Amino acid sequence: MRNSRIVSDEELSNYLEVNSVTNKTKALFLHQINNWELAKQNYLDLNSIKKKVFEFNGFKIIVQFNQGRIVSSSAKVDIKSIEERPCFLCTNNLPAEQKGILCNNNYLILLNPFPIFEEHFTIPQLEHKPQEIYSNFIDMLNTSKELGERYTAFYNGPKCGASAPDHMHFQASLKNIMPVENELNYIYEHSIELLNDEKVRVAAVINYLRNFFIIETDDKTLANEEFQKLYNSIKEITSSDEEPLMNIIAAYSDRWRIYIFPRKAHRPKQFFAEGEDKILLSPAAVDFGGLLITPRKEDFEKITKENIIDIFKQTSVDETTIEKISAKYCK
Ligand SMILES: [Zn+2]
Repeated sequence: MRNSRIVSDEELSNYLEVNSVTNKTKALFLHQINNWELAKQNYLDLNSIKKKVFEFNGFKIIVQFNQGRIVSSSAKVDIKSIEERPCFLCTNNLPAEQKGILCNNNYLILLNPFPIFEEHFTIPQLEHKPQEIYSNFIDMLNTSKELGERYTAFYNGPKCGASAPDHMHFQASLKNIMPVENELNYIYEHSIELLNDEKVRVAAVINYLRNFFIIETDDKTLANEEFQKLYNSIKEITSSDEEPLMNIIAAYSDRWRIYIFPRKAHRPKQFFAEGEDKILLSPAAVDFGGLLITPRKEDFEKITKENIIDIFKQTSVDETTIEKISAKYCK
């Protein structure tokens, strides 16, 4: 069953030379839109998608109106709802047309049929295991490096935007589409360095609507070690019994640049409001990367700068928490 899901190199080479995982992934995109009507239509629809840009002092937030994301944004992620539905990331339950390529030995790269990006992939582990980053972070480093020429990987925590919290997965977008990847000057100016030696740099970033940590290094072991230290500090300061709420973006060029967004809440009050006050926006890694997804037209039209500030205030950890995490991490 599993093997029947994997597209052969021979088939992929009809689209592109398959000399790297990145190229195979791009070839997979072409293969899927040529063989899967739903995906083809949804990627075509993306061409006419509406966007709005909000300028802040030194950085921007892009809002995208994307009807196709309604299912994901409003997904019920409580235990009962999850148990009652067939897992859409398990190989046996994939639509007949959906094929993938192997990555990192135990992951399948699949085209996401409900895209945010011109090329958007979901990367589930082959086994059905809960979404969990601590022990899988090395996989995220490997995957982001393999795809780094063209794509950026991201991760949504099980209670923080993952619509399949029961099945471990990453996603990948085209590189440099999320504003956070293009605002490094601003980010450096507003970062408080926690560690900086020849091999690795770790900093806390504030005054960016959402507060976060960044790790930069070309050393995989160090990246993993510093991530685990940060994770444990976040876990302790936010008093989490389980995985602390977080989203992660991992980009690789000559080294990794890992953005870690600890979260105060998953969804803002506007998500649950009725009538005029409702804004159906369920922030996850992409939104924290500066690209807000509104699946309802009315929300796209009415959302204001003040709403954006307020939504991040409710869902991002505050500066005091960042300071406490930083102090713990530096101990
Ligand atoms: Zn599954």
